[in-house]
Amino acid sequence: MAAQTVIRMGHPTLRKTADHISEGEFHTQEFKSLLVDLYDTMKKEGGIGIAAPQINISKSVALIELPEFSERYGQLPVTGLITIINPQIEFLTDDKQGFWEGCLSVPGLRGFVERPNKIRVQFQDENYQLRSLEVEGFLATVFQHELDHLFGKLFIDRLKDPSMLSYLAEFDQFIAPPKAENESNNDDLLD
Ligand code: ZN
Repeated sequence: MAAQTVIRMGHPTLRKTADHISEGEFHTQEFKSLLVDLYDTMKKEGGIGIAAPQINISKSVALIELPEFSERYGQLPVTGLITIINPQIEFLTDDKQGFWEGCLSVPGLRGFVERPNKIRVQFQDENYQLRSLEVEGFLATVFQHELDHLFGKLFIDRLKDPSMLSYLAEFDQFIAPPKAENESNNDDLLD
């Protein structure tokens, strides 16, 4: 049980639909170990979310844990650790909101993606209990980014415009709005 290697764009596992997790599988030691590995990897890499395919396990489980505040993301909604198993997503609005997204599996790049800003997600939680959550704003984008990993999608598939893709250094130099003292950007995303 330990942090695992994050696989990168080009690895075929990132393009597969992840397998459903049965209740029997949920109760296995192997699955408990997977949850620990995912958590350890997310923490080691400094992500705010991670999906099992990113550590080369094609299973339908992802974690999200937003810090309350970070230099990189600014002030964020308090979520605690959310364990998402077998999710289904429903879009509650056509209104879209855009963020500069990044991904541990697409290191060194940022891309501008617009996504519906209010969704409902049904999933099994860390006790395999069915839950339904309505989320909006930045958290809705984080959910959609993570759930995309379970369906073989990466944020670069969803760029608003192919020209809105940048290396991180150039993003910081030319695109990111200048930071005021005691203020951070919350318009980028890394998981
Ligand atoms: Zn990602």
